[in-house]
Formats: sequence, structure tokens, C-alpha cells
Amino acid sequence: MNNGKICVSVCAETADELIQQIKRAEDLADVIEIRFDSLSFSELDNFFKLFKKIKPSIKAPILAAMHKSVETETIETSEETYIIPDTFRVWEKILASNTLDYFDPFQGGVTALLIECWNNFETSAVPIISFFKNAKKHKFIFSHHDFEKVPSELNNIYKTMKETPADIVKIAVQTSVITDTIPIWKLLERAKSDNKQIIPIAMGEAGKWTRILGLAHGAFMTYASLDSGSETAPGQVSASDLIDVYRANELNENTEVYGILGSNTSVSMSPYIHNEAFKIHKLNSVFVPLQVNNLDEFIKRMVKPETREVELNFKGFSVTIPHKQAIIKHLDFIDETAKAIGAVNTVKIVDGKLYGYNTDAQGFIEPLLNSYGDLQRAKVVVIGAGGAARACVYALKKQGAEVTVFARDLEKAKPFAEEFAVELKQLSTNDEPRTTYKEFDILVNTTPLGMKGKADGVSAAIAEQLKGLHLVYDLVYIPFQTPLMQEADIAEVPKIGGLAMLIAQAMEQQKLWTGLDAPMKEMSRAALLRLQS
Ligand code: NAP
Repeated sequence: MNNGKICVSVCAETADELIQQIKRAEDLADVIEIRFDSLSFSELDNFFKLFKKIKPSIKAPILAAMHKSVETETIETSEETYIIPDTFRVWEKILASNTLDYFDPFQGGVTALLIECWNNFETSAVPIISFFKNAKKHKFIFSHHDFEKVPSELNNIYKTMKETPADIVKIAVQTSVITDTIPIWKLLERAKSDNKQIIPIAMGEAGKWTRILGLAHGAFMTYASLDSGSETAPGQVSASDLIDVYRANELNENTEVYGILGSNTSVSMSPYIHNEAFKIHKLNSVFVPLQVNNLDEFIKRMVKPETREVELNFKGFSVTIPHKQAIIKHLDFIDETAKAIGAVNTVKIVDGKLYGYNTDAQGFIEPLLNSYGDLQRAKVVVIGAGGAARACVYALKKQGAEVTVFARDLEKAKPFAEEFAVELKQLSTNDEPRTTYKEFDILVNTTPLGMKGKADGVSAAIAEQLKGLHLVYDLVYIPFQTPLMQEADIAEVPKIGGLAMLIAQAMEQQKLWTGLDAPMKEMSRAALLRLQS
């Protein structure tokens, strides 16, 4: 266990709703942050009345937070002009309520008041600090948020905040690319050497990993939402995921870090699958989302020992769209299968060297062999000619299948067909006549058609086209029952969904990374639970 705390943030418009959320947060949170900024001013008295009743049963410290500044008053001194937000009216009420007692977060204890003050640092720092001087018995978090960017003067902001009477400094900045997280992450080191408690937050999907690994590297606290879908800041992870999936409070600086490298990691099932395996094997390892757009910058500044600016103990990556081919030039070694496929979906890091593998081919073929049996001379349609198709065609040909690729752009797909020596045909569009696949045995969809968020509800083929086939295999796994699988049901053709491949390729990855046999049942259950929620 590390010393960090998981803070669940609750926010509601009515007192009743806020009380309900506090009760639910109790089961998950080390600290409960009550955000008072959505609650209307007229509901405050009612809230404190209700809160008094539940307070004795609440064990988690309470953090009162005000995240809104409505500028109402301007004070001019001989030196400067300050703007005072009317949020002070709310703070006065909170302090006067006396429902929130003193608590020292460094010593442990019960109900507490930590005051978080969120504001535009430059204009409001001085009046806020003088206001809270009168609230001395409470611990005080002073926070600075930038919802647009990582400010270039980040180090100066930290330096000024560190000099204030605040017990804890919180700095939250918006990141758009993963390397934006470097300066905010480096504040952890700086705060450690200054002996100052800090909560550094990189908001946005690209910064999600900082919310997961922060506690292991000395952050005072990390923020979580009560449920997924009720996040109070971009990139926030739900409390149950932080605790059960990522085990954020069990990680430490020696934790081996793995992650999914892709341009859209928010929909990935891989963290659920791999973290389950690490948990079952009781490994000090974690698998995090790494949303990467510029692969070269990421590898240079965060991975390669000679050039990296942060030490994260990376041990491997699962590589997905669009980096499966681009990663190759960064590798120190590539195995024969990955080389033949021309794509790498797995990286293992040993002594700073990057080793590349492809587990998609094995992951694809295993469920197919289990369902269909011998593939020698089986006539297989592969729809699509992208990255996943490369692994599928490679594996099918190795098994002796006769493959025909159907692609929407023949010009683009031609080099692929030539490289793998397969027949290439035009994929029919929705206009009639549609191709029928009755002269084939198996149809494999390797396009994102039908995938949630990409081509919702669209099927790569309709029932009419599928009649006569012996098996339909859809690589898409979100949703669990894809439109193509529904069409296969109508055509009464047996089908396999993409989850089988996802699990099989992930099991191969686990084997490569840990040398252990992966717990298939538990990994499948973890993915299914997510897909069906
Ligand atoms: P990719 O490299 O982008 O390739 C996608 C292929 O689909 C390309 O040939 C593309 O054609 C074609 N395509 C895209 N939209 C199309 C449309 N509307 N109509 C017809 N063809 C279309 O992506 P990928 O890495 O191969 O992944 C493809 C799918 O497989 C994704 O849904 C992914 O989630 C899934 N997948 C699943 C697993 C698993 O474990 N189950 C593993 C890997 C991939 P153009 O080249 O003309 O754009």
C-alpha cells in the first residue's frame, strides 16, 4: 500500500441528491470531496441540516470544495487590484455551519474539513489566502486549474503556491497529448525535494495514466468519480476502477508498468483484461491507457533510456490503431512472425531495449481452429485489408486456407494482396447487387463496420449474403453482439465474435511479458462484465 488517498468527488444540485451521493461514496473513498458549486445557495442550510444527521456514520474525511468563481467585487490596494469571487459567501456559510470538524490528513482521523479553493491563481491568490487565514483550524488545499493547456509558467505557479500557507498544493492542467504530462509529472519530484504535499493532475484522456500512477509516486491524493459517466473532470477514472481494476493505492515506485498505446484508448478493454491477469498472479504490475498520437515523441521523451525525461518503469506495451506498423522503427528486435505480418501489437521492454511481437495472428487463429477445425483448403473471405487483416491472412495462409480479400479500395489494397499472394475482389457497397458469399466456407470481417462509436449498427454483410457459409467471424467486439453476428443468426450460420480473439491475443501477450500462463476464465469474465455493462 502507498500513502496516497483516493478522493471521490460528489456534486449535485439539491441537498437530498448530494447526501445520497455522499452515502454511496463512503464505501469507496479515502476522502469525500463535496463540491458545493452546483448546489444552489438556498439549499445550503437544508444540506447542513441533513448532513448533521449522517455525519456520525461517515468515516472518510470530508473535503469541501468550491470550483466556481463569480467575480463580484474588486478591491484596490496601493499595490494591486484583487477580484473577490462571491464564492466567499458560500465558504462563510460552510465554516459557520460547524458541521465539518478539524482533521489532520497527515495524522489520520475521522470527519474532517479540508478546504479546497479553486480559482484563477493570478487574480485571486492574495484575497483567498487572507480569507482563509481566519479558518486556520482547517487544513487547506490551494488549487490552480487550467482547463485549456499546460501553462508555460507551470514551475513558477508551483513555486508561488508552495510559498502560500496552504498545507497541500493542487495543480490541475489540461493535456491534449501524452508528452504534455511530463512537466506536471515532474512536479512530484520537485515537491518531494521541497517536502511539500502535492496533488498534480493531468486532465484529459492523455493524462489518465497520471491519475492511476500518481499515488505510487508520492501524490497526496488522486480524484475519482463516483460512477463512470459522472466524472467531474476530463479523464477522471471511476473510484471502483481505480481501486479494483488499477489497484492505485497498492502500487509503488517499483511497480512494473504496461499500457495500451493507441490514438483512442478510452474504449479499450485491454486494461480490464490485463489488470485482472496481474491481480490473479499477484504481480506488482499495472496496465494503463496511454493515449498517444505522436509515437516518435512519446518513445523519445518517455520510453528510451537515453532520451526519456520521466522514469516510469515501463515493461511493455500493447500496440493498437494507428501504431502497429509505425512502432517497428523504434524496436531493437522484431520476431519473425511480426516481421512477416509487417505489424507489431506487443512490445516487451528488457533493460531498456524494445522487443516487438505480433500476437494477433495466434489470437485470431486459435478460436477459429477450435470452432471450425482443420483449415486446409478452406475457402475464406476476408473483408478489409488493414492492420488486423494482415495478421488474419498470414495465419490463414499458414493453415493452408484459400483466402480471398474483399476491399472497398482496390488500388489501396493491391500491394497487400500481392504481398500475401491472395485474390482481391471489390467489396460491394449498399447498392445492389450485393455479393453473395455462398461459394465460400468462412467469412471474416476485419473492418470496423458495426463497431460502437465508429460504424454503429452497420453490418459488413446481410443475412442474404451469408447463406451457405459454415462460419462467420467478426473481429469487432464492441458491442458484444455485433450487427454482423445478428445477420449470421438470421442466416442460421454459426458465428464467433471478436472477444475470443481479443482474449486469446491478450493471453499470448501475458505469456510474453510475465512468462506465466494467463488466467483465461478470469480475463474473459473481466472483459464480458465491461462489455455487457
Ligand atoms: P485498420 O488498419 O484501420 O484497417 C481497417 C480496414 O477496414 C481497412 O482495410 C479499411 O479500408 C477498412 N474499412 C474501414 N471502414 C470501412 C468501411 N466503412 N467499409 C469498408 N471497409 C472499411 O484497422 P485494424 O487495426 O485492421 O482494425 C479493424 C477492426 O478490427 C477494428 O474494429 C478493430 O477493433 C478490430 N480488431 C479486433 C481485434 C480483436 O482482438 N478482436 C484485433 C485487432 C483488430 P481502407 O483502407 O479503405 O480505409
